[in-house]
Amino acid sequence: MIPTNTEDGQHRLPMEGIPQPNRAEVLQLPRVHISSHPVMIHKLTALRAKQTPPPEFYRLVKEIGALLAYEATEDLALQECEIETPLEKMHSSRLAGGIGVTPILRAGLGLAEGFREVIPDVQIWHLGLKRDERTLRAAEYYNQLPYQVDLQICYAVDPMLATGGSAIDAISILKRRNIKNISYIGIIAAPYGVLKLSQAHPDVDIYIASLDERLNELGYIVPGLGDAGDRQFGTF
Ligand code: URA
Repeated sequence: MIPTNTEDGQHRLPMEGIPQPNRAEVLQLPRVHISSHPVMIHKLTALRAKQTPPPEFYRLVKEIGALLAYEATEDLALQECEIETPLEKMHSSRLAGGIGVTPILRAGLGLAEGFREVIPDVQIWHLGLKRDERTLRAAEYYNQLPYQVDLQICYAVDPMLATGGSAIDAISILKRRNIKNISYIGIIAAPYGVLKLSQAHPDVDIYIASLDERLNELGYIVPGLGDAGDRQFGTF
């Protein structure tokens, strides 16, 4: 248990007594996209199960990342080009402009790999944000974002949208680098995190595989899957 100090001097758990929205409230938000693909649901079941060992867990995160990448890139812009098949010339199209993926370290790494399998030439910009378990606030400890950006979109990826703190901070950091078009990609979200992220960044689309019930008093998503970083990298 991790108590936190409050203004009245009481020790409280981070989410203790904090009101949370329910699923129905956030399902109405315009920019929330929840996958309903049967293959996604199947993989998510295996991911959540507590007996799934880290190597399989990591592989599933990557595969779910690839499926989310496929869904989230549906509206990307194309530019026309000319190519030659072995038979003749033709007009065709390619993705217009670069695509950035910002994994929030370390849990976002597996999702970013999944993205790379779908679009091999994405730029991957690492951003390290650590959640303070007492306050649930995120602190930046690593930043490899380039200063020159010419992208059509950047995806901030982090598997668990819990309180929303890391996602909100990561997207604010991307915006300060003048990146205009940003989407958030996660696997499991709590209604609280989705609401906070939508309020802080109403221009950002949120793509997830599941909207779970709530946060527990420690700030973990339930039913959830536990700690996504520990389960990917075997650090229990
Ligand atoms: N981060 C995790 O890894 N899991 C949660 O449930 C919440 C935040």
